[in-house]
Amino acid sequence: MPEGDTIRRLADRITARFAGQRCVRCVTRDPRLSGVDFAGSVLLGADAVGKHLLIRFDDGRTLHAHLLMTGSWTVGPAATESAWRRRIELWLEGGRLTGIDVPILGVLRTVDEHTIIDHLGPDLCGVEAPDLDDITARLQRDPDAPLAGAMLDQRNVAGFGNLYAVELPFIVGVSPNQPVGSIEGLRGLVGIGAAVIRTNAARGPQNTTGRKLSLDEHWIYPKRGKPCPLCGTRLDGWTEAASPWRRASTWCPTCQPLEPRREVDMARARRLLALHPARREPSFPA
Ligand SMILES: [Zn+2]
Repeated sequence: MPEGDTIRRLADRITARFAGQRCVRCVTRDPRLSGVDFAGSVLLGADAVGKHLLIRFDDGRTLHAHLLMTGSWTVGPAATESAWRRRIELWLEGGRLTGIDVPILGVLRTVDEHTIIDHLGPDLCGVEAPDLDDITARLQRDPDAPLAGAMLDQRNVAGFGNLYAVELPFIVGVSPNQPVGSIEGLRGLVGIGAAVIRTNAARGPQNTTGRKLSLDEHWIYPKRGKPCPLCGTRLDGWTEAASPWRRASTWCPTCQPLEPRREVDMARARRLLALHPARREPSFPA
């Protein structure tokens, strides 16, 4: 699932592999890129802001991509997908960079990048650690918004995707449907969330359990209908079509009851993340 941590790792991989290399050939198969040719330009590096990928060239242009739920990139070898799925292919001196099924793709002047990222909230996976108080205040701007919906609104905080909007509420024992204005200790959830996603951005898979750290291992995502791994209750959830925030969701009705007021359970979070290296991040609440 392309979330902030995935895009940060992708950007770092592109920079490590191709920074300073000239593009020798460029093929586009996307009407939005018609007439675009990067041949002759040098790739300076790639950056991630929230879930936006920005690939910069020495001629003052930036290739902008957002993967939504379908897109991916192949970094290095030639891609094996059919040609029509390879929306853009760049032959660089040290290998090939291919955007596959990328739903949002465009070229803009590097100096104009702010026009696509200015509306975003603090970036969870940026070089600088994000301001947790600012994120908490933004999440609470609309007190009636359900927790998962507020977490997914990139104007509040940039980087959380649906995986974290399911796993983090479970870890702290709060329903994803709980209105943010009725949650006590929301900043604790923000600190834990920032610690987990930044750790995963730095070290690899999207692991939210701390077990089998080399794998994308999760507590309840996407296990709707299965027993809760902690209490055995059948996990409830929304389908994408029924969900108020338009993304499939899962929760445990026993561990995460919807209540008039609900407190973030830090003891539960510490227990569930006892083995996760996110515990060593400065943003993880003491
Ligand atoms: Zn449970």
